[in-house]
Amino acid sequence: MTSTAQAPDVEHVVIIGSGPAGWTAAIYAARANLKPLVYEGRPKTNPSIVLPGGQLMLTTEVENYPGFPHGVTGPQMMADFKAQAERFGTRIVTGDIAKCDFSKRPFTLTDDEDKVIKTHAVIIATGATANWIGLKNEMRLAMAGGGVSACAVCDGALPVFRNQPLAVVGGGDTAMEEASYLTKFASTVYVIHRRNEFRASKVMQKRILDNPKAKVIWDSAVVDVLGGEKIEGVKLKNLKTQAESNLDVKGLFIAIGHTPATGFLKDTGVELDDKGYVKLVDGFRSATTVPGVFVGGDCADSIYRQAVSAAGMGCKAAIDAERWLAEQGIH
Ligand code: NAP
Repeated sequence: MTSTAQAPDVEHVVIIGSGPAGWTAAIYAARANLKPLVYEGRPKTNPSIVLPGGQLMLTTEVENYPGFPHGVTGPQMMADFKAQAERFGTRIVTGDIAKCDFSKRPFTLTDDEDKVIKTHAVIIATGATANWIGLKNEMRLAMAGGGVSACAVCDGALPVFRNQPLAVVGGGDTAMEEASYLTKFASTVYVIHRRNEFRASKVMQKRILDNPKAKVIWDSAVVDVLGGEKIEGVKLKNLKTQAESNLDVKGLFIAIGHTPATGFLKDTGVELDDKGYVKLVDGFRSATTVPGVFVGGDCADSIYRQAVSAAGMGCKAAIDAERWLAEQGIH
C-alpha cells in the first residue's frame, strides 16, 4: 500500500480502477471523509497494455479536457489526479481485484495476491482495454515484440520504426491520433480502414487527410501479418472487390476500439450488457444492479468514452456511494 495509514476492518468504500473516473471518485469520497481505498491495477503488457491510470497513460496530448488551454499529457494528467486524491487521504494499492462477493454485506473482495478486503460500498472504475483483430500472426508478433502493437504512443518512437513505412488499422479517433503521432517518425503511415469513411471526428480526420505522410487505404481489412521474428508486411483484402495484395510495412498498430475491463464481475450480480459494459439502473445515476455497488467511466460507457465524461461519472459514483452509506447509517 502506498499510504502508511492503517486499514480498517471494514472499508467504507473501495474504488477499483485508477483512470479519470477512479481518481475523481477518490477525490470526492476522500473529501467526504470516506477514507477510500483505491485498487489502482497492476501493470500488464501482454498482449494488451494495461496500466494504472488507464488509457490516458497511453495518450500523448489531451487537448479537450477543460481547464488546460495549452493541453496536458495523459500521464501527467493522471499523476495530478492521483496526487489530488492522495492529498485528501486516499489510500492506494497497486494490484487488481480478482474476485467480488456481493451476495452479502459487508462485501468481500479478494485481490490478485489473495488478500481479502471487507467493504460497505464499491465503486467500479476499471475502464477498458484495446481490441485486436485476432489474427494468429498478429498476436504472435505482438507478444514477441515483433513490430505489432495496440499502442502507437507506447511503441511508435522506438528506433526500429524510424523512417519506415508503418500501418494503423481503424477509422476512429484513436486511429487518427495514433497515425498522426506516427507520422513524426515514419516514412509513410498507411491508415487501413474497413469502410470508405472514417468514424473519427472531423477535426481528427482532417489531421490525417491533410497530412502528406499519411495514406488511407479504404474498404480494406488486414487478413494476415507477414514476417518471421519481425513484421515485414501485411496481407490486405479489399472488401469490395475481394482482391488481395501485400503491403510492405515495418510496424502495425491496431486501433479498433476497446473492451470494458469487467471480466471479474461475471456472476457477481452486477449486470453487464452483451458487450460487457456495466449496466446502469438509471442512466442518469451510477447505481449498478447490486445496491451499494456503483460504477463510473469507460467500463459503463460505450458512447462518450471521454476523460471528462469519465471524471463526471466518477464524481456521481462517489456522491451516490456517500448518500447510500448514509442511508444505511454508515458514517
Ligand atoms: P471507435 O470509435 O469504436 O472506432 C473503432 C474503429 O475501428 C472503427 O473505425 C471501426 O470500424 C474499426 N474496427 C472495429 N473493429 C474492427 C475490426 N475487427 N477490424 C477492423 N476495423 C475494426 O474506437 P476508438 O477510435 O478507440 O475511440 C473510442 C472513443 O474514444 C471514441 O468515443 C473517441 O471519440 C474517443 N477518443 C477520443 C480522442 C480524442 O478526442 N483525442 C482520441 C481517441 C479516442 P467502423 O467505423 O467500420 O465501425
